[in-house]
Amino acid sequence: MRIVVASGKGGTGKTLVSTSLALHWARQGQESCYIDADVEEPNGHLFLQPAIDATRRFTMPVPRLEGTCEACGRCQELCAFHAILAIKGRVLVFPELCHSCGACVLACLPGVLHLAPREIGTIREGRVGSLRFIDGTLDVGEARAARLTEGVASTPCGGRVIVDAPPGTSCPAVATLRGADIAVLVTEPTPFGLHDLGLAIRMCRSLGVPPVVVVNRSDLGGDVEAALAEFGAPVVGRIPFDPRIAVATAKGEIAIDVVPRFAETVAGIALAVERAALEARS
Ligand code: SF4
Ligand code: SF4
Repeated sequence: MRIVVASGKGGTGKTLVSTSLALHWARQGQESCYIDADVEEPNGHLFLQPAIDATRRFTMPVPRLEGTCEACGRCQELCAFHAILAIKGRVLVFPELCHSCGACVLACLPGVLHLAPREIGTIREGRVGSLRFIDGTLDVGEARAARLTEGVASTPCGGRVIVDAPPGTSCPAVATLRGADIAVLVTEPTPFGLHDLGLAIRMCRSLGVPPVVVVNRSDLGGDVEAALAEFGAPVVGRIPFDPRIAVATAKGEIAIDVVPRFAETVAGIALAVERAALEARS
């Protein structure tokens, strides 16, 4: 089962929910894997403090000139992303704009353009007890987060896979939702939170992934029940504000270990998510 934990905006508690669910399921004896696909700001490791046992560099292919350019300009004309410039027999590639589609290589009739790997980030693998841990970090200055996000999110894993998605509704978030059984959308009871939750629900539905909602800091803010009902996505959990959760996280402790009420809430959310995913399948 593949469960993507996402949010319309940052700072809603997405990583708290995803790491807690992953630990809960792993401790129940289920083969589980937590993937932090928020490659621009991965912070799942701060919550889980995994023992890392493998690190590899991630590459994406970008065009490189290997031979004599005939200055026909076809590569430049064909690139929809303005990522390649052909000037008087010289070729200039802007890798931060390149989408690795390979169209320029196919367009080059003399065959002097080739795709060559370019490093853009790092993927790490490790363990937290019986829980498998994977995360990715985009190199500083890199702009193509979606490519690494896809690479991290598609790392082969068995059992229950919990993907901590990047916040928002842009390409990196979409990349994590492909093939998901269910999306757990974490929100907060504020006008901004609900607005962005609406966008996230639309994103999930347009990708054919059933969304369910977790309201964090549910006792702060105004009455949002009517707004939540309007979205038509089931609310599978509410997490009341509890400063002990923030204190535990800041001290590097696992919140479900030190705040019993939160552990009970997570257990309830886990059960509701499982049921919703099974219902969606049937
Ligand atoms: S691989 Fe695609 S995006 Fe990159 S430069 Fe070539 S045509 Fe443009
Ligand atoms: S398509 Fe090939 S030959 Fe033509 S400008 Fe580009 S690199 Fe040069």
